[in-house]
Amino acid sequence: MKVCRTIEDFRKSRPELGKMALVPTMGAFHEGHLSLMRKGKEIADSVAVSIFVNPLQFAPTDDLDNYPRQEEKDFAMAESVGVDAVFAPDAQSFTKSIETTISVGGISLLWEGEHRPGHFDGVATIVSKLFLATQPEIAIFGQKDFQQCAVIAQMVQDLNFPIQLQFEPTMREESGLAMSSRNEYFTHDQKAKACHLHDTLIAASTQIQRCDQSINEILLSAQQSLIAHHFDPEYFAYVDSMSLEPKEHRISNGRLIVAARFHGVRLIDNIGVYL
Ligand code: AMP
Repeated sequence: MKVCRTIEDFRKSRPELGKMALVPTMGAFHEGHLSLMRKGKEIADSVAVSIFVNPLQFAPTDDLDNYPRQEEKDFAMAESVGVDAVFAPDAQSFTKSIETTISVGGISLLWEGEHRPGHFDGVATIVSKLFLATQPEIAIFGQKDFQQCAVIAQMVQDLNFPIQLQFEPTMREESGLAMSSRNEYFTHDQKAKACHLHDTLIAASTQIQRCDQSINEILLSAQQSLIAHHFDPEYFAYVDSMSLEPKEHRISNGRLIVAARFHGVRLIDNIGVYL
């Protein structure tokens, strides 16, 4: 597995990688990341992983400085699933004196966009740079970050990036808690209790399928349940999977999306609601 620190270095290896799938990440790997890499092995000649803790997508009050970093362990994990190349640029030089912002608008202004202003501009700008630096034929993202998938899809369509997108399901702990690098902030006990977020999504989904309560009642009781379990919800919404617009009535392609803080850690999750 080749580790490249600069765009020039990556470009030297690029020809021998053939049809390449890129998995953009911020490192601190878990099974969720590895599942994307394995998918890449399945659908492309080679897989490249980028590791870059993107300062542009963190607000000043966010956890940028404390974000878990474990580069050597990440390299070993990537190698264990057959990753061919890692692009791990130096944070300073990759974003040095950057003046250009990719701002997707529309879909990026809802939910996460509302609660984390500028977040998706940071994501879109850096993902664009990663696409141009590594030139993948395929790029793979996790549905754990459901709105991020929608924002990237819009960007790829609008800017005509010649890249096929692949979105993969969320990997979960046995408890149902979505795997996340941020779960490392929890104590053992807190992590065990954090699965209530997923339990609440499942309960709300079942209630929507049962059809004996209004969507608004269901969403309200989900938020109350989260508060009762010491979560601080930012949003809990039933949306159209494509537009992410909120829906007050049952629809065929609905999705429940949630963001909530638990012991100071901001968690997001989502599930499809199948009628
Ligand atoms: P991150 O390192 O958190 O920026 O995530 C890198 C990629 O891994 C993104 O496309 C995420 O959506 C994806 N990812 C993160 N957690 C999971 C998970 N539990 N299951 C599947 N994909 C995930």
